[in-house]
Amino acid sequence: MIVSKAYAAPSATKPLQPHRLERRDPRPDDIVIEIAYCGICHSDIHTARGEWGPTIYPCVPGHEIVGKVVAVGKKVRRFKPGDLAGVGCMVDSCGTCKPCRAREEQFCQGHLAFTYNSMESDGKTPTQGGYSTHIVVREKYAFRIRKGVPLARVAPLLCAGITTYSPLKRYKVGRGHRVGVVGLGGLGHMAVKLAKAMGAHVTVFSTSPGKKRDAERLGADAFVISTKAANFEPLAGTLDFIIDTVSANHDFTPYLNSLKTDATMVLVGASPEPNQLLAMPLLLGRRRLAGSLIGGTRETQEMLDYCFRKKIYCDIELIPATKINEAYERTIRGDVKYRFVIDASSF
Ligand code: NAP
Ligand code: ZN
Repeated sequence: MIVSKAYAAPSATKPLQPHRLERRDPRPDDIVIEIAYCGICHSDIHTARGEWGPTIYPCVPGHEIVGKVVAVGKKVRRFKPGDLAGVGCMVDSCGTCKPCRAREEQFCQGHLAFTYNSMESDGKTPTQGGYSTHIVVREKYAFRIRKGVPLARVAPLLCAGITTYSPLKRYKVGRGHRVGVVGLGGLGHMAVKLAKAMGAHVTVFSTSPGKKRDAERLGADAFVISTKAANFEPLAGTLDFIIDTVSANHDFTPYLNSLKTDATMVLVGASPEPNQLLAMPLLLGRRRLAGSLIGGTRETQEMLDYCFRKKIYCDIELIPATKINEAYERTIRGDVKYRFVIDASSF
């Protein structure tokens, strides 16, 4: 048993507090990671507060994990002690269904274990995430991190990075495409960086006028305040693709109207409440509204290697564990530049 210091949500309504976790001893295909940093994703907040449905308490959130491998099981081939490793949103899946064989394990039809608030394959041990000092994980769900990269700024790539990279690749965003990014938070700021790296012209839609300068610094070509209907008028029918990262209920209509004929808006933001959807903007222009969920293990390693090659990292605010609850409040207020990352040495 490996004892890990952690922070956990004791219930939907109580702040996160110090917690002691027991991690399993490594099995033959497991690695043990001493966590260095873990990002705070808005999904952690939705889950800690039970906003998406029942949460298993106490819940240790965190699925943007990076650290150092300190032990490996007998059958581990890809890692050795001293290597850097990352863990994202999944820690296990059935491995045999069609999506698993295609390495799109996020759509596993058997047993999928998310990094927290899921059950391990034994069906009775709740998974616990990266707001902790150690994690034990099958090597298949761990990713190789290059030495010499700014590790704290790499952590959020494990969720914010892959969740935006995957749809940009799937919809073949490239040179000259006009892309809209809705919401400039953790996911949104990565969408801007990645879409720019892929050659797109990027328009940010934000409810926060104060983020204009940051949007430009991040590479955006245009910045639109989304709270004023008139601001959308010049954009009607002009965008090839939109990625919507908003964490709360909002009206899709002005965004859909901004798409060209046959163009797609992909939702990655996961509002706990139903969003408004008027059919007409989809009908006019035969537009498409789609969703996307993180990315599989193959694509996650591909995304990391792409970011290392292009030196694309997250803009972060590094915090000690004692600031987690404050960071949650600030994230909800949209006051995050642009990802909180916990220094795991502070647990
Ligand atoms: P975040 O850092 O809080 O960013 C969300 C941004 O949305 C905010 O910064 C704000 O940007 C905008 N926003 C917030 N409330 C809004 C409202 N009421 N109306 C309009 N805009 C609003 O969150 P995140 O970590 O990027 O996550 C975003 C969402 O994606 C969450 O729902 C999360 O659970 C989900 N998610 C999904 C996946 C997936 O696989 N699909 C993976 C990770 C996260 P402005 O200030 O610029 O308006
Ligand atoms: Zn996440």
